Amino acid sequence: MQRTLSIVKPDGVKKNLIGEVIKRFEENGLRVIGLKMIYMDKREAEGFYAVHRGKPFYESLTQFMSSGPSVVMVLEGDNAILKTRELMGATDPREAKEGTLRRQYANNIERNIVHGSDGPETAAFEIGYFFNALELFPY
Ligand code: UDP
Ligand code: MG
Repeated sequence: MQRTLSIVKPDGVKKNLIGEVIKRFEENGLRVIGLKMIYMDKREAEGFYAVHRGKPFYESLTQFMSSGPSVVMVLEGDNAILKTRELMGATDPREAKEGTLRRQYANNIERNIVHGSDGPETAAFEIGYFFNALELFPY
């Protein structure tokens, strides 16, 4: 059993994809054990993506992530981290496999509708960034 953090990014919310993303995860055996809508400010987006500080896309990415509401969720299941990333597809939608969320719905490498943690340590950091223990409900 593993936990991961996923986000329906501001572009995904504006495209009415909240339900589609959650449905894809649920259909594939992941359980949503924490869920909320948030509107990150610039500082919160910068903290979330601190690992990318200094990269050429950091400024634009953190502006985009603070440009509208997002839906953040904690998913639980076997191999949740890898499973979530497989369902999302590659960062660049042009490289994402057919049938993945990003291939189907993303506009470009920045506006790629969905986030998923990339490993156990990042998952722990990212879950703790948005959720406390009382906001998670394993069932
Ligand atoms: N990103 C970008 N340009 C790039 C690489 C990434 O705008 O060249 C954005 C994109 O929104 C991506 C996020 O930064 O989802 C985090 O990048 P990462 O490499 O961690 O990709 P992910 O783990 O989301 O697939
Ligand atoms: Mg990443």
